[in-house]
Amino acid sequence: MKSLPEVKAALPEYVGVNAQVLQDVAKRLDKAYKSFFRRVKAGQKAGYPRFRGRDRYDSFTYPQPSQSSVSGDGKHVYLPKIGNVRIKLHRPFAGKLKTLAVKREGAEWYAVLTCELPRTEPLPATASQVGIDVGTTWFFVTSDGEFCENHKLFQASSKKLRVVQRALSRKPKKNGNRHKKAKARVAKLYRKTARQRLQVHHEEAKKLVIKHDLICHEDLNVKGMAQGNLGKQIHDVAWGQFFQILSGKAAWAGRRVVAVDPRLTSQRCHVCGHTERGNRASQANFRCLSCGHTENADVNAAKNILAQGLRFVAQRISLEIACHEKPRPLGLLRPERV
Ligand SMILES: [Zn+2]
Repeated sequence: MKSLPEVKAALPEYVGVNAQVLQDVAKRLDKAYKSFFRRVKAGQKAGYPRFRGRDRYDSFTYPQPSQSSVSGDGKHVYLPKIGNVRIKLHRPFAGKLKTLAVKREGAEWYAVLTCELPRTEPLPATASQVGIDVGTTWFFVTSDGEFCENHKLFQASSKKLRVVQRALSRKPKKNGNRHKKAKARVAKLYRKTARQRLQVHHEEAKKLVIKHDLICHEDLNVKGMAQGNLGKQIHDVAWGQFFQILSGKAAWAGRRVVAVDPRLTSQRCHVCGHTERGNRASQANFRCLSCGHTENADVNAAKNILAQGLRFVAQRISLEIACHEKPRPLGLLRPERV
C-alpha cells in the first residue's frame, strides 16, 4: 500500500482510480496469499494464487463508502472518481453502510452494499431437535420423517443448461463470435441456477431454524469430498453452501447446529444399535438383521445423526458446567464438530 504513490507515478492511468479501491486490491492479494499459506500449513490442496487479467477480475470495493452513497430516491449510487451511476434498488437497505462493491457478472453489473445491523433477539425456544440426512433422491430427510424434495424449479433450468452446454460444444472455433455468444449463454444460465439454488437454501434453512432448537447434520469434511464422481462433488459443494447458510441463520436465531461424523449412520439400526451393511435392504429401505426394525433408510440415518448430535451436546453442556464456562457467543458461524 505504501508503494502505491510510486505505482501511480510510473503508471499514470492509476491516478484515475480511487485510492481506497487500490488499497483494497492490495488487501485482496494479501488475503489470497495468507489463505494459500494457511492451506499449505494445514496440508490441504493449496492452489497457488493466480494472476487475474481484466477478463477475470470482476469486482472492486470501496471499503469506507459515504453513508449517503445511495441517493435519497434510490435511483443513483455515487462511486468516487466515477460519479453518479443509475441503479435499480432491489430492496431497501438499513443500518450502517460498511462496504460498497461493484461487481460484473457477464453483461450485468451490480452494486453490492454490506450493512451493519443491530443484533436481533434470539427466537423463542421450541424444545424441538432434529437430525437431517442429505442425499441425491431427496434434498434432505429429517429424523421427524419429513422429506424435502429437490426443487423442480432448479431441475428445469438444469435441463436448459444441458441444452445450451451441448450447443456450446458444437461451436468449433474456440475464439469465434458464435462460440463467445454460446459461452455467455451458458454462463448466464449457470448464474441463474446458482441464484435459484441459493434462494431454495435460504428458504429451507429458515424453516429448519424456526422449528428446531438443535439441528444436527453430517460433517462433509469427514465424508471426504474428493471421493466418488463429479456429480456427487457438485452436490457436496451445494450442501456445503446449505450448511453454511443454516449455521449463519442459526447463530442469529440463538439455535445450535452440530456437524457429526456421518460414518456408519446409514448402516446402524437406531433402535438396537446393530451395525451391519446388510441392514440396508435397498437404497430406500432399512431392515435391521438383529431386531427386525424396518424404516425408511434415510429417516433411520437422520435419527442416528440426531442421536450422535445429542450425545455431543450433552457432553458439551456438562463440560461447560464443570468448567464454569460462559455460554458460547451467538455469533459463532461454524458448526461444532464431533
Ligand atoms: Zn435393530
